[in-house]
Amino acid sequence: ALDIAVRYSLARRQFAGKDGSEVTLLDYQRHQRRLLPLIARTYAQIFTHQELLNQFHTVFSGENDTEETRSDLETVSAASKALSTWYALDTIQECREACGGQGFMAQHRLTGLRADLDVYVTFEGDNNVMLQLVAKRLLTDYAKAFKSPDFGTLAQYVAGQVGETAINRGGLRGLAQSITDFGSTARAVGYVKDEEHQHQLLTDRVHTMVASIANKLKAAGSDKDKQAELFNRYQNDLINAARAHAELIMWEAFTSALKTIKDGDSIKILTWLRDLYGFTLLEENLSWYLINGRLSGARAEAITEYIDSRLLPRLRPHAENLVDAFLLPPELVRTTLAQDERERQLNRQTLVRN
Ligand SMILES: Cc1cc2nc3c(=O)[nH]c(=O)nc-3n(C[C@H](O)[C@H](O)[C@H](O)COP(=O)(O)OP(=O)(O)OC[C@H]3O[C@@H](n4cnc5c(N)ncnc54)[C@H](O)[C@@H]3O)c2cc1C
Repeated sequence: ALDIAVRYSLARRQFAGKDGSEVTLLDYQRHQRRLLPLIARTYAQIFTHQELLNQFHTVFSGENDTEETRSDLETVSAASKALSTWYALDTIQECREACGGQGFMAQHRLTGLRADLDVYVTFEGDNNVMLQLVAKRLLTDYAKAFKSPDFGTLAQYVAGQVGETAINRGGLRGLAQSITDFGSTARAVGYVKDEEHQHQLLTDRVHTMVASIANKLKAAGSDKDKQAELFNRYQNDLINAARAHAELIMWEAFTSALKTIKDGDSIKILTWLRDLYGFTLLEENLSWYLINGRLSGARAEAITEYIDSRLLPRLRPHAENLVDAFLLPPELVRTTLAQDERERQLNRQTLVRN
């Protein structure tokens, strides 16, 4: 779908630009905003799937087949299945709209691709149910983190968390950020641009969400009815935590893949693309980061500013190369939408000249 929509956006022209000639759709910032983050997310998905295949091979070839590696494989499969299928539907729909009326024509395949993929969010395990499996594993790991998860130890840990949250809620960390960054978007963005800080922000969100839910579930003690009741009470939070974990796995897979690339220009462009994926995740969850005092208002604003004024313009010239790298042959894409549009424009110019 991205292959079709990006190529069309480079061929289709709408409205006159500065010099009077019509500009391509992908020259419009809104169009870049709609498609480039989807390319970033698709790359993150591809790298995650590769890691999943490697993990699958390690377990099923017997290279490292233990209860723990099987359990890891199950968790990563469930997380990737849910996010990949939701992302795929989302991406196809956006690409369909990005191609305007042409996108709705069956011959250009987008409506058909969406219809084919629709059921993937349900079969092989409904996505919400898959994410519950991931959340249960997160809670188990959390409990294991304490050698003996007796109330005393857990309470102490949670007290630490609550203390930290209280400070964050009070805005102390946020306040310190505002003072340091005062008046400087560059400084504010410098903090989150850093790979380590992106990782820290994404990881911290998962840890804090899981710790907070575990703390609430702990109130049930050994009462089974109460446990079930509380589990259901916090089910939505659990699924959100699992989703945040899946997003983190994908960001990590993208970041690990960057370390394997040798060509300097490719590293530079794919690092921008990874940053776009990371920044988009932070932007989507800004309310959480602000409510929990993890980002100051200035840093939150700087994230959107950096996407719009740096990452999108930097990536725009590489959009075609980025979809070329999907290596989809014409017999798989099976539409000549972009080429037809170019020919239509050439014919139109010929008509005007005559
Ligand atoms: C085209 C197609 C092909 C299929 N092929 C196969 C096959 O070859 N082999 C096979 O075994 N199965 C197959 N299935 C079945 C498929 O795996 C199930 O449809 C799927 O697991 C969802 O189960 P369900 O239909 O019972 O939905 P339900 O479990 O009834 O779910 C309905 C809705 O309720 C929600 N829900 C369910 N339980 C919970 C819960 N505990 N908490 C919160 N929300 C919940 C779900 O998120 C979902 O949105 C196929 C299904 C389809 C549509």
